[in-house]
Amino acid sequence: MFKDNLKNFLKHGLMLGLYGVSAILPKRRTPVIIYHSVDESGSCISIGKDVFENQMALIKEGGYRTLTFSEIADIWKNGKAEPEKAVVLTFDDGFRNNYDVAFPILRKNGFTATIFLATDYIGKRCTWDKRSDIPDFPMLTWEMITEMGGYGIDFQPHTATHPHLPLISNNRIRDEIKRSRSTIEDKLDKRCDIFCYPYGEFDERVIRVLKEEGFIGAVAVNPDKENLYTIRRVGSMHLTTQLAFNVALKEGFSLYYSCKELVRKITMT
Ligand SMILES: [Zn+2]
Repeated sequence: MFKDNLKNFLKHGLMLGLYGVSAILPKRRTPVIIYHSVDESGSCISIGKDVFENQMALIKEGGYRTLTFSEIADIWKNGKAEPEKAVVLTFDDGFRNNYDVAFPILRKNGFTATIFLATDYIGKRCTWDKRSDIPDFPMLTWEMITEMGGYGIDFQPHTATHPHLPLISNNRIRDEIKRSRSTIEDKLDKRCDIFCYPYGEFDERVIRVLKEEGFIGAVAVNPDKENLYTIRRVGSMHLTTQLAFNVALKEGFSLYYSCKELVRKITMT
């Protein structure tokens, strides 16, 4: 009991301190939030509908607008400034519940998002990772993707077969990246400039191929060093209160994660 109170006290105090500090620091790149599946299974990649709905409300109440990666890519290409209060919502893999559950909530709030598709699985089931607790969720169909694209949801490549990229040959890396990109570009008649690493895993070979193929950026999860090809994303499970949300969005996530880690260390002893 005492430990819980101490933990909450420290957490809140640190959050407030960080919020104050972040207000005077220069703005970082527009923050990016990572989602996968919106469902009630409790799997490691799932978030419940109510939690998702509450997070969208936090974004709205916080006065943020949403940008897609296509919009971000345009801003970067033209050397323009990113808007002050904006956030990028991303969904990895292309689960069908992104259409059934998340899409109506996004639309209700006037929000957009970027969905990274594992293109060989479109219209099928999620069967690429048999070792995890992830159920064989159904995936989006092209019909759903086209409808969401018409509304303004952005689609970008996440490989064709969802492999562990650092474990495969150079030729396969290039094929996975090119094939998933051209599939989306051909179907939706759009350009794809941003890539998403399966499992957040990459190495120098993967980044070299992305640069050679003309990608202007790639999203990871929580890389050691952040640059355009290792864009950090914040896990949605941390976005529990308006304060936590503001801290995470305002000064980027490295500060936020350091803070959480510090609280964990202090309260573990
Ligand atoms: Zn994935």
